[in-house]
Amino acid sequence: MALTVMKFGGTSVANVERLQKAADRIIKEKETGNQVIVVVSAMGKTTDSLVSMAREISSRPSKREMDVLLSTGEQVTIALLSMVLMERGYSAVSFTGWQAGIKTDAVHESARISSIDTSFIRPKLKEGRIVIVAGFQGVTEDGQITTLGRGGSDASAVALAGAFGARRCEIYTDVTGVFTTDPRYVAKARKLKEISYDEMLELAYLGAGVLHPRSVEYAKNSGIELVVRSSFSEEEGTVIKEEVAMEKARTVRGLAFEKNVTKVTLLGLPNHVNTVSRVFDALAAKHINVDVIVQNVLDEERTSLSFTIDRDVWDETLDVLRTHEKSLAFSQLVSESELAKISIVGSGMASNPGVAARMFHALSEKDIKVKMISTSEIKVSTIIDEKRLTEALETLHDVFRLAEEESVSL
Ligand code: ADP
Ligand code: ASP
Ligand code: MG
Repeated sequence: MALTVMKFGGTSVANVERLQKAADRIIKEKETGNQVIVVVSAMGKTTDSLVSMAREISSRPSKREMDVLLSTGEQVTIALLSMVLMERGYSAVSFTGWQAGIKTDAVHESARISSIDTSFIRPKLKEGRIVIVAGFQGVTEDGQITTLGRGGSDASAVALAGAFGARRCEIYTDVTGVFTTDPRYVAKARKLKEISYDEMLELAYLGAGVLHPRSVEYAKNSGIELVVRSSFSEEEGTVIKEEVAMEKARTVRGLAFEKNVTKVTLLGLPNHVNTVSRVFDALAAKHINVDVIVQNVLDEERTSLSFTIDRDVWDETLDVLRTHEKSLAFSQLVSESELAKISIVGSGMASNPGVAARMFHALSEKDIKVKMISTSEIKVSTIIDEKRLTEALETLHDVFRLAEEESVSL
């Protein structure tokens, strides 16, 4: 029997009325005769509120306790949605992440799913029950509650789809699909009919919050077709799947961005072969994620190193570097916040020289200063002032003619 995995995000389950609407969709799917697993997020802004409460208590709350706290959000939704379905005459049963057998590694606040023991859910599906699973959470081998990182319910849904052999996973959210960029920032953003796993993966890693990057990674690895669509309208969504050759002509498919970027620079570092590795080893030991990196060798003796981090880990990063000040032997530590990273993404870029040049040209015409650059085969990212972000997005959206239909080849 076919199995459908449906995931509903926070806005789609924000109150009882919305739970009823989600139930309409679930029932419709169940009535087609398919088995159904539903994955849900915490209701509305619940996770944000829990985070702010913790921050009122501590600027650096224990990561283990954060996971215990944040995992409560999804637990509320599963029980309520299950009740809604039961009231409507359907047999439903809720599972927390650990009840569902979702095992993760032990990296609190951004754990990775390592395996799913399907033996708990399978019998319920066989009995014809609708299974509701709390997204975003799992359990380590030794019984610690973990969460998968903000937006992680998408990853739970796709991982479950993979474990139960579903070919398709539907992500119901508050937009009608994946757009050329966040429609909240660029009014002209256009919904894409389809997009390849690789492009979506890059967009997601570069900040397009519509899908958690790991959900795309899992989907690509297991060949699961992802559909992103609105839980509020019947409009067709965006399909994420293997690349369609015809569309390769498009050089830039979308723009992604991240706010809250902070740049840290170490000046006057000794120019030794292991200088850079020692800096990043110290940060990695604290699980601090470093993003764009630029090294400048000044002369035989001295080098400088700049890298970006999320503002949330700014304090912690400075602490780590200062703790190692003597051994790293830098002469100065400077940092700059209120930056943003803006990226252009498209698989056609690999075979199209001059795309980066067009990007920098467009930004310079608007007098938007490029502070750092990083590239890969299918993306170019630049660090700019956060206050120029919307303008930069609109400019690049126009320059790469993203509002125009797919058939245009650039
Ligand atoms: P959910 O709670 O359903 O998981 P999210 O807030 O995590 O919803 O993701 C949906 C949001 O993602 C949209 O409201 C939109 O603002 C944002 N977004 C960012 N980039 C894109 C994009 N390229 N296409 C569509 N939405 C995007
Ligand atoms: N509730 C979590 C969050 O807000 C996970 C999710 O919604 O996917 O980040
Ligand atoms: Mg989300």
